[in-house]
Amino acid sequence: MSTLYGEFAATGHRKVRCAVSLTDRELVVQRLGSVPARRNRVALSLEDCVGCRAYREGDKADPAAYLTAYFYPLKRRWVGSGLSRQRVEQCFRLAAFQEPRANLEEAQKWACAVRERSNRCEHLRDGVLLSELSHPCRMLLLVNPQSGKGHALTLYNNHVQRMLNEAGVQHTLIITERQNHARELVREADLSQWDALVIMSGDGLLFEVINGLLDRSDWEDAILTPLGILPCGSGNALAASIHHYAGASLVSSEELLVSCGFLLCKGVVSRMDLVSVHLSSGTRLFSFLSLAWGFVADVDIESEKYRHFGAARFTLGMLVRLASLRLYKGKLAYLPATGDRNSVGSRLTNNHSTLLRLSMRESPVQNSFHNSCNSNNSLKARRIECSWSSNKAQTSRSDSMLPRLGEPLPGSWVVVPEEDFVLVLAMYQSHLAEDLLAAPDATLDEGIIHLFYVKAGISHAALLRLFLAMEKGAHVPSSCAHLVHTKVLALRMEPYSPKGIITVDGEVVEYGPVQAEVHRGLARLISA
Ligand code: ADP
Ligand code: MG
Repeated sequence: MSTLYGEFAATGHRKVRCAVSLTDRELVVQRLGSVPARRNRVALSLEDCVGCRAYREGDKADPAAYLTAYFYPLKRRWVGSGLSRQRVEQCFRLAAFQEPRANLEEAQKWACAVRERSNRCEHLRDGVLLSELSHPCRMLLLVNPQSGKGHALTLYNNHVQRMLNEAGVQHTLIITERQNHARELVREADLSQWDALVIMSGDGLLFEVINGLLDRSDWEDAILTPLGILPCGSGNALAASIHHYAGASLVSSEELLVSCGFLLCKGVVSRMDLVSVHLSSGTRLFSFLSLAWGFVADVDIESEKYRHFGAARFTLGMLVRLASLRLYKGKLAYLPATGDRNSVGSRLTNNHSTLLRLSMRESPVQNSFHNSCNSNNSLKARRIECSWSSNKAQTSRSDSMLPRLGEPLPGSWVVVPEEDFVLVLAMYQSHLAEDLLAAPDATLDEGIIHLFYVKAGISHAALLRLFLAMEKGAHVPSSCAHLVHTKVLALRMEPYSPKGIITVDGEVVEYGPVQAEVHRGLARLISA
């Protein structure tokens, strides 16, 4: 694509002129005149651009139009080390023509070009052309006002709303009123109205949404709805996992939110594994994160009362539970994963198009930010038909690896010889909490359950060391003789004691025998 050149005034300093050029990859702004040479040129990568708009200000006598582009580049933090996404706005005044309309048209031409090129940056990821037109569009945002420290709505007002507007994302906000409200809404919703379902909460609300989608009679289509996560909970494990997969360094809760908002605006969709969980009453649930019994499950639930501490609630809960460490007796068995993931357990064909952009649907009335571009492109806008659509027929929710609970397991399963555990934890994403990298080599859609268990006999100090090491993912079995890590496709746990806690994705479920099987890439997640 050819480079666009223009000379505009910097807004705020009309006397400062800028030579602006737009290449395929960058917006380069060169300040003209007597600005010190060191500071007079900025090059912003279009990969970091979420949107651009053209508009006129209220003053009718002024014929100028304005152009503003919004970037969230990774920058060095103000405090501490490492990088975080920080907002940068570039705003110009265009007044080359006397006719206001002509200036606006010129600004619109630029805005449109910036948006198209920002999107195209990601179209060619891994050499695969993902779509010609890309725009995240109509999102349903489900906000849990009680999640985490109870600040979700403030975080929406302070960060999310502005970002989505900058990106031209139309969204409707629903504030959940109680537990299971989101699940019920999603179960009944007209999904054709939404291009993505986004939760602003912790992992618990996503658990509701996924199970709501799978409750539906049209679940096969429903579960293909792209899901997004804006972390506001005390447990933001999936958000932290997405960042880990993208190679991003550990960030604070607020930085994690901004970064997730950025990913949402970029709208790249990946597949995500789900695990089907069977409880003794016959109830079946779908899980995207974890299944836990023992120390981890107890800490998760007992630390609910410290939720106003945010993510620190788990550390606090862990110290309390360590002081009264106990054993959990039961039977554990699993179906090992073999090296070849395509021969076992994979219900979906494994092609290379694991990324799909959210496509813009025809929408005559868009956010005013983007009217100019839409008029050019809405006719071309369409849902992307990529190889994924053919996967639907091959997708199955039936659990072929699992006999009924209570029935004997096939000979291909491994029965763990120990029956005394400190914890049993099945993970299918890397993070157990924002700062607990429990399964460092997990990925979003590998079709593997990482099964960890800690055998009885571990000292308090060794268990504490294990969790401290987990912050960096350094808790490998070689450094702790009581820890076992194995990759499995399915597992069964049968606790012996009549009472206890089992959690799925951090939520308490019915206690008793439980078994689970992984379904590779069953869901869609907006991620890096
Ligand atoms: P956190 O990470 O802070 O625990 P979650 O998203 O996991 O946040 O939500 C915690 C629980 O709150 C979940 O069980 C969810 O179903 C429930 N919930 C959702 N909306 C509400 C609400 N309005 N009031 C109370 N609980 C809610
Ligand atoms: Mg939770």
